[in-house]
Parts: sequence; C-alpha cells; structure tokens
Amino acid sequence: MELDLELAGRTVLIVGGAASARFALARYVHAGAAVSITIGADAVAPLGCRGVDRPKHLAGWRDRVDGIDVVVLVDADADEERMVRAAAGRRTWILREAPASTAPIGTVTLIGGGPGDDGLLTLAAREALARADIVYVDRLAPHQRLHEYAPGAEIVDVGKTPGHHAIPQHEIERLMVASALDGRTVARLKGGDPYVFGRGGEEVAACREAGVPVIVIPGVTSAIAVPAAAGIPVTYREVSRMFTVVSGHAPLDDAQLSALAALGGTIVVLMGVSNLPHLAAGLERLGMRADMPLAIVERGTQLSQRTTVTTLSEATEVSARLRIGSPAVIVVGEVVLLMHHGEEADRISRDVIALAGE
Ligand code: SAH
Repeated sequence: MELDLELAGRTVLIVGGAASARFALARYVHAGAAVSITIGADAVAPLGCRGVDRPKHLAGWRDRVDGIDVVVLVDADADEERMVRAAAGRRTWILREAPASTAPIGTVTLIGGGPGDDGLLTLAAREALARADIVYVDRLAPHQRLHEYAPGAEIVDVGKTPGHHAIPQHEIERLMVASALDGRTVARLKGGDPYVFGRGGEEVAACREAGVPVIVIPGVTSAIAVPAAAGIPVTYREVSRMFTVVSGHAPLDDAQLSALAALGGTIVVLMGVSNLPHLAAGLERLGMRADMPLAIVERGTQLSQRTTVTTLSEATEVSARLRIGSPAVIVVGEVVLLMHHGEEADRISRDVIALAGE
C-alpha cells in the first residue's frame, strides 16, 4: 500500500526481458507509475498491462535515465554497472528485482489463504501471489485485495458454493496443470490450510503425476482461527488438552460419535451446519451431557461474523431459529465458556452473541 503511494506518478524504467520482468512490470504499473521497459515491451501487451511506453530508442545510458525516478534492474547483470554509473549524481533510485521464471514448464504453488481476513495471509502467501501469472481462487479464500496482491495475474474464481460445484475438482486440477505446462507460474489460493479438508493432497498428486513442480504454503486454518476470532481458545490448561477436528460433510456413524463423546476434549466441526441435528443428537445419545456448551461461529474473521452460544441439546432448535448458515465452525466443549470478547475480536468483527433461550 505504502509502495503504491510512493510510486504513483513516478517514472520507472525497467531493465530486463519482458518475460523475466513481467511481475515487476505488473507491480509498478499497478502502483500507478509511468513505466517504460528497455526491451521487449511488445511481448508484454498480452499480459494486459497498460501504461507501458516504448523506450527512447537506443539512447545513450545517461539519456535513458533522464527524467527517470526509479530504475528497476531485473535480470540485467550486464547493464547494471553502466546503469549505476549513469545514475550517479542524479536523484534516481536503483532497485533490483529477482527475475520471473521463464522455464518452459511453470510451477504450481498451493497457497493456504486463511479464513478470509486479509491480515491472516502469510508473508509466503503474499510473495507467491506477487509472482503469479494466474491465480485459481476458492470461494472461502481471501478475495478482497487479490488484484493488488497479484497485480499481473489473471484471476480465475473456481469457488464452490455448498451444493453447487462451480467447477468440478478434476477440472480445477486439469486447468492448473495445463497452465503450468504452458509455462505459467500458477498460484492456487485456497481457504484456510490446503491440507485441512481442502483437497490439497489431491491437487499435489495431480501436479506430480503431470510432472509439474508443486509447492505447498501452509495457511491459517479456520479450525483454530475461527474459534479464536470469536474469542474461543481450542485448548486451555485444565479445561481441554486436546481438540479433534472433524468434517461434518457426511454424517458420523455411531462408533465415531461415541468415541468423540468419550474423549473429553474440544470438538471442532467444519462443514457441519446441515448435519448439526444429526451430530448433536448423536453425541447426546452416545453419552455427552446435554448441557455441554456449543458455539457456532459463522463467517469467521469477516465483518459479518456472528457467534451463537448454546448447548448440545438446544443447538438444533437455536440453529434453525437463527437461520444459521455456512460457512461456520462448530465448537463443542467446555472451552466455549472461556470465550472472551477482547479487543482482538472486536478489531476484526462485530460479534453478535445470541444466547440460547434469549
Ligand atoms: N481448508 C479449510 C477448510 C475447508 S472446508 C481450512 O483449513 O480452514 C470448508 C469449511 O471450513 C466451511 O464449511 C467452514 O466449516 C470452515 N470455514 C472456512 N472458512 C470459514 C470462515 N471464515 N468462517 C467460518 N467457517 C469457515
């Protein structure tokens, strides 16, 4: 952001090949700079960058830096010394940027995007986005500032809403692999952590099978961060020394429910809203106490975050009455009572606490 402010209206000269300089170019154009590039500007047009001027033709080195505020050296070893000499004594900044890959086969980076709040993207995630030609993004991944984080990239929303699979999983995998085989640097931005109910393992396997190099950047999982955003710690000394993360997508069987009921720790359920009646009734029937605290946190870390606190036996009725919907994380256990409404929760969202019976 600060970078944007500083660069708006500045004249920037990028020294490097259009392909290897493509991410640097996109970033400076996005930041509002008047950008020229020393070679290969034509090759840049397909990337959709505007504001690219042709360089002054074969001007001497000193002429080239005339009127230039910032020189960006990408992949420009041979020119570097001359450029530094030409800029000497002027108010020209010289920056160096790593070249983008121009290998014939690209890479895929699976990025854990966290539960939705931009602030929970990791530094590694931001770096990978900044160096992407194309971003395939899931519904629950952070979207808001993606064009700023991945300025040069084509952004493809492959998001699914529950029950409506916008693009089938195998098709997403096929697209990712095809883009990488095309030489593009592919970012696959997923909600939470890629390996927590995210089908990240399958996507890695698809890349490996196709011979495409693949990297996984872990993310902040909603299983922990969404309860935390509501002020609920998943563990607490002498209250709960374990937490079990379960998918509620398909109903659990009695053996699983009774094992969970007997564990005595925190249970965190993802994708559990539609099967909540089955889950709550099953846990109660198989031994969990009826007044066990249960919280449902909808749209965690978003401005519209809402936390509902109830009990195991009342959860089904409360959830129907308040029309609780996906995405939500369900927390079952004593830790729910430790919920604290600190400034950190307020900072991200306006929590609405609906207590059962009110
Ligand atoms: N890989 C993801 C989980 C994917 S499954 C992760 O690690 O977080 C999708 C489920 O995650 C949703 O049905 C919901 O239960 C949960 N979820 C993800 N983001 C959420 C959010 N912002 N608020 C509430 N629940 C969320």
